Amino acid sequence: MSWKDIVGHESQIKYMLQAWKTNKLGQAYFFHGLDGVGKRTLAIEFGKALLCTSNSTFEACGLCPSCKLVEAENHPDLQVNGCPKEVHEFPRELMKEILEGFSFKASRGGAKVLVIDDCDLLNEESGNIFLKSLEEPPPHSIIFLIGTSLERQLETILSRCQKLAFHGLNQSEIAKVFSNNQIEGSFDLNKIASACGGSVSQAIMLTNPEFSQVEDSFFAEIVMPMPDPVKLVKMVMDFIEGAGKETSGQRVRARWLVHDTLSWLRNQIVTGDSLHRHRFLLPAAVNIEKVMAMLEACFQAENQIQRRVQLSLTVQWWVDGLIWADSLAAFDSRVGAL
Ligand SMILES: [Zn+2]
Repeated sequence: MSWKDIVGHESQIKYMLQAWKTNKLGQAYFFHGLDGVGKRTLAIEFGKALLCTSNSTFEACGLCPSCKLVEAENHPDLQVNGCPKEVHEFPRELMKEILEGFSFKASRGGAKVLVIDDCDLLNEESGNIFLKSLEEPPPHSIIFLIGTSLERQLETILSRCQKLAFHGLNQSEIAKVFSNNQIEGSFDLNKIASACGGSVSQAIMLTNPEFSQVEDSFFAEIVMPMPDPVKLVKMVMDFIEGAGKETSGQRVRARWLVHDTLSWLRNQIVTGDSLHRHRFLLPAAVNIEKVMAMLEACFQAENQIQRRVQLSLTVQWWVDGLIWADSLAAFDSRVGAL
């Protein structure tokens, strides 16, 4: 694998390579953008190129012992860390451990590279002990921080990093990732590429035919004159728990369902959009205020999933929000008028 194998993000790659070639590489970068578009892959690839021992063209050779170690995820001078799946805040102790490892001299005599994923989950404590490393990083080292949005980050951390935004992949880029990785099946790639929001991980999930059936049942119930909240919550929880015991997998499914509900609702506003694969339309009696309130319920649910709030609670709130959205809004406005 090399730069040439990375699909999309040409301008970000160009920016980093230009900085390197002109000797202006920063000590810390913050890569931010949607999950599943390749931020972490790019950071690791960059680290690999930096560590490559036969690199003469700003590209990893893929053959030297250093490249082989990176590919085996075993290079002592390339640390890739993230928040453990089962916790909702980056543990302070773990951060201490990571930084201790990072402070040692490079084992192989070259650069040291630290990649920290899930920075959305840094809290004041874990963030603060990280600040010192950002201010005084070990010599010949580079740090890549990865998160979804700048709003979720501590200002003290952001101000010490160069920020680089990543966007979702377009439809032809998603198709290219599928073909490069030989992902094949009886799915409609065009539909998947238009529904995945530019995220490769979401696109891969959408290839599962079971998911489409779950959504059909979900939307069919939502458009009923009197949707059944108990039925909906059970439907969603069964689907989410189908991912297995690990909450990280469950969160991916939850996020996907909420995300797709958002795009379905947006299509309700721009009516008649036949591109969306779900044919269900909200009853005509549902007005724009109700749709806006339903969208708001989805935004809140996305936020809660991101913050790793307990999924059963999030799903309960979300379903309530979708069904009772307008009456809650009406209640709020009545209370507001008092
Ligand atoms: Zn190499």
